[in-house]
Amino acid sequence: MAINYEILALRYGILDGGRLQYQNYIIPDDHLAPDPLDFLVFAIRGPVGTANPRTIVMDTGFNPVSAARRGRELLRTPARALLDAGIDPAEAKDVILTHMHWDHAGGMEYFPNAMFHLQAAEMAYCTGPCMCEPFLKRPFDVDDVKSAITALYSERLKLHEGTVEIAPGITVHLIGGHSGGIQSIRVPTARGTVVLAGDATHMWGNIRQRNPFPVVVDVARMLKGFDIINGLADGPDHVIPGHDPLILKRFPPLNGNPEIVRVDLPPIA
Ligand SMILES: [Zn+2]
Ligand SMILES: [Zn+2]
Repeated sequence: MAINYEILALRYGILDGGRLQYQNYIIPDDHLAPDPLDFLVFAIRGPVGTANPRTIVMDTGFNPVSAARRGRELLRTPARALLDAGIDPAEAKDVILTHMHWDHAGGMEYFPNAMFHLQAAEMAYCTGPCMCEPFLKRPFDVDDVKSAITALYSERLKLHEGTVEIAPGITVHLIGGHSGGIQSIRVPTARGTVVLAGDATHMWGNIRQRNPFPVVVDVARMLKGFDIINGLADGPDHVIPGHDPLILKRFPPLNGNPEIVRVDLPPIA
C-alpha cells in the first residue's frame, strides 16, 4: 500500500486590519485593496493505517511577546492550536522549521522534546553578514536565533543540505529566495503529492501570477523556487501556501473546527 499522510493546517494568528495588497505583491493590481494574512502551523500525521503513526510539525509560530511587539493578533498559542487537534506539542519528536523568521521560529519552546530540522543555508544566513543590514535582519528575532543555536549545541537541531528524507516519503527541499535558506516540504497524501510551501509562496496569488511577495532576499531565486515547488506538487491545488486566508475556506475542517482544516483532502471550494 502506498504511504500516505494526513496534513492539518492550524490557524493561530491573523493580520487583518490595514493589511493591503501592495504589502503582499511586488506588483499589485490594486495597491490599497485589503489583503489580510493568516498565521498557521501545520501537522503531518501518519503514515495512515500504521499502528504507530508519527506526527511531524511544520513551523512553531510566534509567541505572545513578539506578537505584541509587531502588532500581530495571536488568536491562540500555536501549542494550544495543536492541542485542539489532539496533538501534544511536548510529545512531538520532529519539527521542521521552514526558515528562521520570527513568525515561524518563535515557538521553539513549545516543543521541549523535539528534534528540529532546518537548512544549513538558513542557519548560515541568519547568523551571517546579511544580518548587518537592517532591512534583511527585520524579519528575524535574535532570541529565536539564540534558541536555534542552543538546540544545535544540545543535539536537537539537524542542519540539512538540500533534499533530505525526514520520514518515509516526506522530504524537505531547499528553495531560498524569501530567506537565505527557506525549505518546503513534500508529503504524499491520498489525493497525491502535496507541497507545504511555507513562505516560499505566501499566497496562491504569488506563485500562480508569478508575482513575488515583497519580503524577499533574491527575487530571481524566489521565481525559480516557484518552478521547483510546481515540479514537486501534483497540481496547483497541491501547493499549499504559507499565509493565505483562503486555506481555511477551501479545505474541509477537522471535526467541525473552522480553525483547523485537512489539506490532504481535496478542496471543497
Ligand atoms: Zn518568512
Ligand atoms: Zn511567515
